[in-house]
Amino acid sequence: MVIIMKPQATQAEVERVLEQVRSHGLKAHVSIGEERTIIGAIGDTHAIATEVFESLPGVERVTRISQPYKLASRQFHGWDSVFPLDGFRVGGEEVVVIAGPCSVESRSQLLETAQAVREAGAHALRGGVFKPRTSPYSFQGLGEEGLEYLAEARAETGLAVVAEVMAIGQIEVMARYVDVLQVGARNMQNFALLRALGEVRKPVLLKRGIAATVEELLMSAEYILSGGNERVMLCERGIRTFETATRNTTDINAVPVLKRLTHLPVLVDPSHATGYAEYVLAVARAAVAAGADGLLVEVHPEPERALSDGRQSLRPEQFAELVRQVKAVAEAIGRRLAPQPERQAVL
Ligand code: PEP
Ligand code: MN
Repeated sequence: MVIIMKPQATQAEVERVLEQVRSHGLKAHVSIGEERTIIGAIGDTHAIATEVFESLPGVERVTRISQPYKLASRQFHGWDSVFPLDGFRVGGEEVVVIAGPCSVESRSQLLETAQAVREAGAHALRGGVFKPRTSPYSFQGLGEEGLEYLAEARAETGLAVVAEVMAIGQIEVMARYVDVLQVGARNMQNFALLRALGEVRKPVLLKRGIAATVEELLMSAEYILSGGNERVMLCERGIRTFETATRNTTDINAVPVLKRLTHLPVLVDPSHATGYAEYVLAVARAAVAAGADGLLVEVHPEPERALSDGRQSLRPEQFAELVRQVKAVAEAIGRRLAPQPERQAVL
């Protein structure tokens, strides 16, 4: 349920509504807009009459959110969410590009890739240190050693860093090193992990599950949002279909669908969505043309030697071309690439 206060409502009137919300065993979520305050009453509201709130002073109207996800819904939050990260913003008018290797493999591999993607125009660096590999015998990631390299790359390039968290027990150490916690496709419905991430004060990049619907993706976002963490970015990374010519099938439809249903930023990962470096550029252009707020792209200095996902990784010069082309696409639809973060001084 959403309680929309009158523009001139007083603080005392807002407090009164909050008390009423809590007295029904609901959680209150307050958004203070430029013009008015909006209060989300979160929980099982179906047996509560809207009049309970409509009759209070300062209340303009009360609406029910028809979708099963509430905080993620545009009915709850009409304007796009914009999250400031280090030196740039995700959401809103600007398009961002997050790039880096699938896995952090060594100090030199990461630092070389970080410099290259920075020079090519990336806004943030990605790199997995705990890897969700299909085979238990494949490279599983460097763990905390990899986090140290990410922190070093961050200090050298000024790029915010993004890495995947696979388990609740990894959250604490990861939150010390990274700017954005990624939830991978395989963990999209790990509800215990999502709940734990609701308590963290770091943005979460939530990837769509291999066989998850748009609604299921939004319900997973709702787990994180309802825990009090408002900074969730969604990522379409391809879904599994009957098609075998590519690793996954990019659900490009999901971009405008999500943009209509939710205020959260929507990214696309053309690397996992296609599985082949030669298709990444075309799908990256399509994603931005469809309205994506950003891209997540795998880049490796020597893809043929990569310990994971080499087949879909771009060489730095191919990535630089991708940035040039998606910049042109963004401008063609009245958006622009976000300015790159300032380079931080190395301490
Ligand atoms: C990744 O980003 O490296 C990754 C494992 O992605 P996904 O969870 O989408 O497969
Ligand atoms: Mn990968």
